[in-house]
Amino acid sequence: MKGFFRFLLDSVFPRRCISCGSFTGGSLVCGLCHGQLLPAEAAGLLPGPDAIPVYSPFLTCDVLLDLIRFLKFEGGTAAAGWLGREMSRALATYREELDDPVIVPVPLHWTRLVRRGYDQAGLLAGEVSRHTGIPLRRRTLGRRKRTRAQSSLDRGSRSGNVTGAFCLRSADRIRDRDVVLVDDLVTSGETVLACCRALEAGEPSSVTVLCAGRRRTAKIKVERLDSLMFE
Ligand SMILES: [Zn+2]
Repeated sequence: MKGFFRFLLDSVFPRRCISCGSFTGGSLVCGLCHGQLLPAEAAGLLPGPDAIPVYSPFLTCDVLLDLIRFLKFEGGTAAAGWLGREMSRALATYREELDDPVIVPVPLHWTRLVRRGYDQAGLLAGEVSRHTGIPLRRRTLGRRKRTRAQSSLDRGSRSGNVTGAFCLRSADRIRDRDVVLVDDLVTSGETVLACCRALEAGEPSSVTVLCAGRRRTAKIKVERLDSLMFE
């Protein structure tokens, strides 16, 4: 029981750096690891003719992947708080361009929600909404099918894996509004693109993507990234 409470305490207030394991005195990552995070200087674009912008505070790097892993698999609400705040700062750079915006998280399939107990994109979206005051529309998108882990598929099969995986539950919530679609990581972009296609049916004014980290082209170990891409 003591171990359980220690686990709970450590999940909320980790005392060791979640990336290198050194003592931090309460913060999530130590100063050294924090210095390795890569700020995203400008928005990226999703592949395809619509060129949907992807905003994120960071590009992917090992320390960011450790933060996402902590968020996804170890119940790290502290990670959601920290990453959500950083994402809100990234959103602030284009907030003035948004007219009557709403935040929509990429949904998790309910079987994964039951197994994991919480939904990481939903947690991040909640934090961003809290910091920015932009309303959160949690159940706007639904997940029709439980997709296979993207990591188990080759590049060509990934698009098919998520095609038709999402459906629009409530068009009224997004019609003529600027939608901020929130996910944790954007790598190939297939998942958020599939969400954008589902959102189109609701005729939003625009869609932008906001995530904690997006892929950069070089230096990332692909196999490491793939191990996190459970869709
Ligand atoms: Zn560290």
